[in-house]
Amino acid sequence: MSLIEHIIRPDVRALSAYHVQDAQGFVKLDAMENPYTLPPALLAELGQQLADVAMNRYPVPSYTSLKQKICATQSVPAGFDLVLGNGSDELIAILSIACAKPGAKVLAPLPGFVMYAMSARLAGMEFIGVDLQADFSLDLPAMLAAIALHRPAITYLAYPNNPTGGLFDPADMIEIIRAVGDTGVVVVDEAYQPFAQTSFLPRLAEFPNLVVMRTFSKLGLAGIRLGYMSASPALLHEFDKVRPPYNVNVLTQTAAEFVLRHTDILDQQAALLRAERSRMRAALAQLAGVEVFDSAANFLLLRVPDVDRVFARLLEHKVLVKNVGKMHALLRNCLRITVSTPEENSLFFDAFVASLAS
Ligand SMILES: *Cc1c(COP(=O)(O)O)cnc(C)c1O
Repeated sequence: MSLIEHIIRPDVRALSAYHVQDAQGFVKLDAMENPYTLPPALLAELGQQLADVAMNRYPVPSYTSLKQKICATQSVPAGFDLVLGNGSDELIAILSIACAKPGAKVLAPLPGFVMYAMSARLAGMEFIGVDLQADFSLDLPAMLAAIALHRPAITYLAYPNNPTGGLFDPADMIEIIRAVGDTGVVVVDEAYQPFAQTSFLPRLAEFPNLVVMRTFSKLGLAGIRLGYMSASPALLHEFDKVRPPYNVNVLTQTAAEFVLRHTDILDQQAALLRAERSRMRAALAQLAGVEVFDSAANFLLLRVPDVDRVFARLLEHKVLVKNVGKMHALLRNCLRITVSTPEENSLFFDAFVASLAS
């Protein structure tokens, strides 16, 4: 038996490494990044503040001032606190570890965000996927039946959903939250909230089993890795015990506090991207053979006649999007494209039209 076979878990050995395409020289529309940066004067000011950070000191693990600034600017309801994560990916891992009692299960609709299943399995929990309907809405009877059968410890609902882009019916979501009841938590993942402008955060007090999760990533700060979640104080108290004490570094903390003093800029950028989403959706819908799905996020899901061919042609045009055609049967021939600046969107559009034709 080799060293690897001796020490590494068989399920880990069986995983394939997460493949990230090298984007050097490409118009990068594959990862829902915000194309805009801060104005130069603010960047210079931020640089000065980062230079003053005490990098020789550990962060203060309570993160009180950053949490207060998030609560104040993001309308976290009074009486609700936060747990911060190194991106929401870490929050998902924290939830998994905290809830991984023997036999505990995790449930989410499919197609959905891949980290829910990945993180559940790494923590030793069974993942139950429930297919969406063909129009990417929730299959409520199937969800309720799976909840009754499996009693999942964690149920994830991404709102809007990735990679489909739409918002689930909030009435369906509330039925799910009620059906899960006091045997599980329901995590409403609002990674795309700035583009959806609707939220479950104001409803936290209504549902003791509700967790609302958000991230700075899609807002233009994917590189600083900062996510947060809120829930009842009793739940947060337990989740916070699992969090590595210094999981948010001092540079991230300083950058986030700085940006939160300029939320008007983030709001303007999100508004530009929402306007571009409408423009692109309308233009793409005019193309013969192309189906465009409704999106409340900063990306659009498209169906084309032959996704592998279109994806390869787009690469030749130096445009990188995400081919999700093999991710799930419901996504056959689908591409996911990030909405970017008017210039990059037009570059994509022209390359896309050429790719369809050739
Ligand atoms: C992008 C995304 C996240 C964000 O992850 P980070 O680790 O915060 O960058 C979380 N949930 C969904 C559904 C996403 O699409």
